[in-house]
Amino acid sequence: MKRELTIIVFIAFSVFYCKNKSENKSIEPTINIEKQEKINHNEHEHWTYDGETGPKHWAEIEKQSDCNGKRQSPINIIDKDVIVDDSLKPLDIHYSTDVKIHGITNNGHSIQYDFEKGDFIVLNDNKYELKQIHFHEASEHTINGIRYPLEIHLVHINKDKIVVLAILAKEGESSEPFTFLEKYLPIYSGETKLLDAEFDLNLKLPTDKGYYTYNGSLTTPPCTQNVTWFVCKAPITVSVSQVKQLQELMPLNNYRDEQPINERVVKQYVGH
Ligand SMILES: [Zn+2]
Repeated sequence: MKRELTIIVFIAFSVFYCKNKSENKSIEPTINIEKQEKINHNEHEHWTYDGETGPKHWAEIEKQSDCNGKRQSPINIIDKDVIVDDSLKPLDIHYSTDVKIHGITNNGHSIQYDFEKGDFIVLNDNKYELKQIHFHEASEHTINGIRYPLEIHLVHINKDKIVVLAILAKEGESSEPFTFLEKYLPIYSGETKLLDAEFDLNLKLPTDKGYYTYNGSLTTPPCTQNVTWFVCKAPITVSVSQVKQLQELMPLNNYRDEQPINERVVKQYVGH
């Protein structure tokens, strides 16, 4: 989840910084630009999903992060421990049929589709705009210990909070929305494509409105703990080839392992 906002801000800052740097130091542009790009590249690569820069080391690599916090994500959701909360309602989702995807990026950690303003959800009278969706293969959240082949994160933000809707996918029939998203693949690490494509996100949502909800974090550094999670109970289906396509373009196993639940409770809206 992730990386999400911070990564966008980081990339924006990097581009801005790099641009200013090259403008301000025009006397020795070649060396500086090359050096800066190398630094940016290295900074971008500081954490990974594997080995000495993998998830177990994120807290030590990212000193300012919350990766060692007590309310981290993802978690293993165990049905018998989940509380049915009758006050919960179906998610108040306002996804329009014609909101545009304006870009697709392979940031080296995941493949991300960025959305223009217009899709949002309302939670406790607050509006959270959909910023981007991205993928984890295999899933980050597990249900009763079961890990799904794919998890899609729909990242919504307002000025001080993040709401992520997580959709689990199992292998089955190919999914129409996925076929649409796949039209723009492959996209390789570090690459961005600008698009101007309308996309109806409603097609992708499970028809069963049941969900689990809990308070957690981004699942990538800086692992910020201001995220309300909604994990759809019903998985969607994607074809084996659709999973494989994403798998080939993303780091192998780009998921973070289960984090301790500590004092938290997971609630559920049962749906139907
Ligand atoms: Zn994510």
